[in-house]
Amino acid sequence: MVDRYRRWLDRKTAERCAKNLKRNGFDVRLVPTPEAACREMLAMITEFETFGIGGSETIRQIGIISELNGMGKTIHDHWKPDLSPDEVQAVRLDQGRCDCFLCSVNAVSAQGEIVNVDGIGNRVTAMTYGPRKVIVVAGVNKIMPDLTQALERVRTVAGPMRAKSLGMETPCAETGECTDCHSPQRICRITTILHRRPMLTDISVVLVGTPLGY
Ligand code: SF4
Repeated sequence: MVDRYRRWLDRKTAERCAKNLKRNGFDVRLVPTPEAACREMLAMITEFETFGIGGSETIRQIGIISELNGMGKTIHDHWKPDLSPDEVQAVRLDQGRCDCFLCSVNAVSAQGEIVNVDGIGNRVTAMTYGPRKVIVVAGVNKIMPDLTQALERVRTVAGPMRAKSLGMETPCAETGECTDCHSPQRICRITTILHRRPMLTDISVVLVGTPLGY
């Protein structure tokens, strides 16, 4: 019974978020499952040939990369194994010049703002300017009531989990708690807030009614 009302509340929050993202100039697709998200994305990307993939668990969870591979598309993914440091750098640059960039978010406010924190900046750069099309996918766990809590989510959830997953030597990867560290491996260096859709970038936001990513 509790799950039923949790799902109801999540759906209502996602609907409010979708309405406000639209008001802020974003194209929005509200879907129930990762599989539906993948289908929705495939319908949007047929005309594109080159794809950039941001450092995102969410994008990998929904299965879109194997679909693109099956279609013979060119994929710029800096998480591919066995790339040299120079190749990783080249892939990051290519992400900003691809036809279509796919990524997730660290948080999105129900008021329609998109929040990301990067260590290098290739994701937030490609998301805001360069590719002809950007598709952002966010599980319902990324939706926070307002901008303050969206920023707080990055500090208390996304940052520590990402640092841990990347094997970073940061305080949060040890204790689970952000100390606003001065670690050389600090991953939180650039914060972007998309208050409105960037003027020259076509962004679709796919909100998924299940938890995805960090
Ligand atoms: S600022 Fe440092 S401690 Fe805080 S989440 Fe980022 S990497 Fe972790």
